[in-house]
Amino acid sequence: MTKTGATMADWLAHNGLTPALCSSILQLHPDLSAASELKAGTDPTSYTTQEAWELCARAASSRLPELEDAVHRVLNAAQVNFFPDLARYPRAFTLHDNGKGVPYISCPWQGCQNDLLTLAHEFGHALQIVASEERRMPPVLRETCASQSELWFIAELKKSDPTLSEKLARVFESRANYTFTRVEPELRAALTKPDQQYQYQWNYPLAQSLAWQFEQQLENGTMVSVFQNLRSTEELVTALTT
Ligand SMILES: [Zn+2]
Repeated sequence: MTKTGATMADWLAHNGLTPALCSSILQLHPDLSAASELKAGTDPTSYTTQEAWELCARAASSRLPELEDAVHRVLNAAQVNFFPDLARYPRAFTLHDNGKGVPYISCPWQGCQNDLLTLAHEFGHALQIVASEERRMPPVLRETCASQSELWFIAELKKSDPTLSEKLARVFESRANYTFTRVEPELRAALTKPDQQYQYQWNYPLAQSLAWQFEQQLENGTMVSVFQNLRSTEELVTALTT
């Protein structure tokens, strides 16, 4: 889907969604209204970039051992730039191919706890890219995979650094609540307007809802097929609600 000129109708079609399906996904979102404000996460972290990157991989391997080959490919072959030109690339992003057949990740590193979750998010994108091979994933599921990787990172950290794990869990909730509060009403209003200009942020509240539910309800085999982009959002939501 091209960004220029894309509309709500295009986005729904591209993701295999309908307004009704979006509403039911949004209803699955946990109530995070008690989450603290978005100020956590700026404390420094003692993890180096390499340690954090390896932890992302360990988290994914522990959670989905079936994806180990893809995890190793991301860990050992993907190109990560922790120090991009901030004037040009202030925000983290992941590209499918660095020109040599592996993902390119740009993830500005300032050495704070927030960076750990951002890196885990981008690791999830790289993993979904490698696992799905040439099957380009639509954005709602793409962001769902990235959010799951953040949750895995928090779970993995619990084994070695429970205090930081707990803190990052709060940061995750706080970020999710911030996004949901801001974007969900906008998305709901836009669902009734097929010609509304597409906004990438619409993907996030849906992805957050799905990531939580997938973690709680999906079996490993199904989860693997999500990362391989072999499932439609509709069939996954049906599996959740029945
Ligand atoms: Zn993302």
